[in-house]
Amino acid sequence: MLRIDGRDLEADDDKTLLEAAKDAGIIIPTLCHHPALTPIGACRLCSVEIERNGRKKVVTSCNYPVEEGLVVETSSPDIFSLRSMILELLLARSLGEARIAALAKEYGVSTPRFKLADESCILCGLCTRVCQELVGVSAMSPILRGVERAVDAPYRDFSEDCMACGACALVCPTTAINKMKNIYPLTSDEAMEVEGSLLQGDADEEIGVYSEIFGSRAHGEGQDGGAVTSILASAIEGGAIDAAIVVMPEDEYRASASMVDDLDGVMASAGTKYVRVPLVPKLLEALGSGKRRIAVVGTPCAIRSVRKLQAGGYLREAFPGAEIVLVGLFCFESFDPARLKRHMRDLFSIDLDEAQRVQISRGRFSIFIGDEEYSCRISDLEDDVREGCEYCGDFVSRLADLSIGSVGSPEGYSTVIVRSDRGRRLLSTAKFSRGEVDLGDISKLCAIKRRRAEKRFALIIDGLGR
Ligand code: SF4
Ligand code: SF4
Repeated sequence: MLRIDGRDLEADDDKTLLEAAKDAGIIIPTLCHHPALTPIGACRLCSVEIERNGRKKVVTSCNYPVEEGLVVETSSPDIFSLRSMILELLLARSLGEARIAALAKEYGVSTPRFKLADESCILCGLCTRVCQELVGVSAMSPILRGVERAVDAPYRDFSEDCMACGACALVCPTTAINKMKNIYPLTSDEAMEVEGSLLQGDADEEIGVYSEIFGSRAHGEGQDGGAVTSILASAIEGGAIDAAIVVMPEDEYRASASMVDDLDGVMASAGTKYVRVPLVPKLLEALGSGKRRIAVVGTPCAIRSVRKLQAGGYLREAFPGAEIVLVGLFCFESFDPARLKRHMRDLFSIDLDEAQRVQISRGRFSIFIGDEEYSCRISDLEDDVREGCEYCGDFVSRLADLSIGSVGSPEGYSTVIVRSDRGRRLLSTAKFSRGEVDLGDISKLCAIKRRRAEKRFALIIDGLGR
């Protein structure tokens, strides 16, 4: 038993003071707390006074555990003035931030006495914790010390890990996340804006905005009907693009981003590896080297990252005249190469590095080595799925100019979704035989992936309590 604000309460000793108070209907303000994340007491706004064995001290309630016999004051005059001071400092740091200003006003602060700084970030660390602890990719972290302390991607470079899920933007109590350029958080509202402003066609709830969808069979070595390889080859040969950013298979079961600007490069990139590869750094490198008309071929998360840079105006300002056309692949999830390799060795006694081809089709994962095919259900690979994929609800690259994948088309064909005039122009140079598409197959997978992501995000949104 403990006493909070004069009330005797029972609380489990695995709870924090903040949780015990909340359970009793006593609300303690906080800016850096989220129930699904490790509490770190960064903002100190949840400070309370505790008394134990006749000794009093101030602690942060979000990370102080319940103790038998503890006496807690959550809103004494001393605590009120401590919070006023904290909010005055935060307000001086981030004067334009509505949430800070509103909270400060509740504590009697409207104009800070301190020197103003032009920062939006209050260093609460919610973004870095959600990215690390829930999404699982650790695309950014706290950097530097003292007055220079900030959050950013490693080396303050364009992130190689951010998958544009938008979780950090959801939890950030200020506008700071959206001002960062080295990561690419795209919220669902922003994604809808992109669909409305950059894409053309009718909007389907699951498949997104598109003007045409068809099955295509191309001649070439690529997988899933060879559509991507064929489109890139004819676009480069016909001079429609200067280069393409693609995922290039490597010796072992690995892949990396690569810029290709001739037929050999395009052919070398044919085939799919089902690993997540960051494309933004390579795209910026290509733009930096003077290329301007570039096709980017990638998974939905890679496409979202580039769209974020476009939507924020960064690409337009840094590289005037750049014309980026986005070719998005269908992707349900990608795998961690090391885990998948171990799993396949245990399951089939094979070395994944020796695979000539891997394929995901009709719920099965297949590996082709020599004349043999090794196949298992996708659902058996749950433990091999790469962290972060469950936060991506986009199966068909809804933000691409062209989306391409095998689902919905018969063996040997690719499904092609045309979403913009730019996508249509890229497609116009390639030659296909056309086939029918089963929209139901595509929509079903879209819905499963969307619902899985919504469930993950619900945990984040519920915990915000806003
Ligand atoms: S960017 Fe936002 S969430 Fe991240 S530390 Fe700063 S204020 Fe907190
Ligand atoms: S958008 Fe997602 S992956 Fe990128 S930094 Fe934010 S939380 Fe991490």
